[in-house]
Amino acid sequence: MTRTVKKLNEYKRIALVAHDNRKKDLVEWAQWNAGILLAHHLVCTGTTGTLVEKTLHDRCKEDEELTLDRCQITKLKSGPLGGDQQLGAMIAEGNIDLIIFFWDPMQPHPHDVDVKALLRIAVVYNIPIACNRSTADFLISSQLMNEKYEVILDDFSQYLSRTIEPIR
Ligand code: PGA
Repeated sequence: MTRTVKKLNEYKRIALVAHDNRKKDLVEWAQWNAGILLAHHLVCTGTTGTLVEKTLHDRCKEDEELTLDRCQITKLKSGPLGGDQQLGAMIAEGNIDLIIFFWDPMQPHPHDVDVKALLRIAVVYNIPIACNRSTADFLISSQLMNEKYEVILDDFSQYLSRTIEPIR
């Protein structure tokens, strides 16, 4: 069986997304973990990104040991306007390394199908994904955050070479 791996660097591309009822939680979490997040590239859905950017700027003003120099923050479209789908496309292209997605399990959302698609494609590409704060804590405190890592990808060659009945 051929095994495909995706090599991650120490500098990770971290997706950050929060539904409206979970944004306060994500902002607090980002404040708490600013020192770690600032060492990576953050890719956020629109509104989450604006909040995270402000939070990290504020933390850098408070603490002179923190700097935004290394941290790139990319803001995609707002989730319901396609931001979650943009993230899904980035995962399929190999451009996201892990996801912190504080989603709201108590409310229906207009883009629920996009959220489901995002979670699915993250599983397909074996992307670590935290959907609540304690999982996010475990992920962000992993020593693998600061190391190279090889993500093992499933072998889809059989699927790709499956026989399709000729179309007449
Ligand atoms: P937002 O999108 O960051 O633009 O609010 C998040 C979402 O609901 O997917």
